[in-house]
Amino acid sequence: MSDTIFGKITRGEIPSEFLYEDEQCVVIRDINPQAPTHVLIIPRKPIPRLVDADAEDGALLGHLMLVAGRVAQDLGVGDGFRLVVNNGEGGGQTVFHLHLHILAGRTMAEGGLAAGLG
Ligand code: 5GP
Repeated sequence: MSDTIFGKITRGEIPSEFLYEDEQCVVIRDINPQAPTHVLIIPRKPIPRLVDADAEDGALLGHLMLVAGRVAQDLGVGDGFRLVVNNGEGGGQTVFHLHLHILAGRTMAEGGLAAGLG
């Protein structure tokens, strides 16, 4: 499995500010934010795409969702945010290490799904 920038970030090989971290994941600000609040929840386990996750990853995927909710509240956007997972090139994924995007701080209700990530 090839390494990615997120592998280096989660292992601490590239210095990054972790807004949150635990034994399973880290949370960082996106380097190219698509909304006033745009953060990434990245599991330490390098699963390339969502479709590459299997049953044994179920607890981890649930944990990432719970962390997303907690971090959104900590960032003051708990009442309005979008959670995005891009899967594969056709889904707009550019870093092949599974991650969740939290997007908030601009209108998400207009423009349908395309308003999530450009
Ligand atoms: P994807 O397109 O794979 O769903 O999302 C990858 C995201 O990672 C993009 O929004 C991109 O801006 C962000 N990104 C790529 N490289 C880095 C990096 O080195 N640091 C940070 N903080 N974000 C990155």
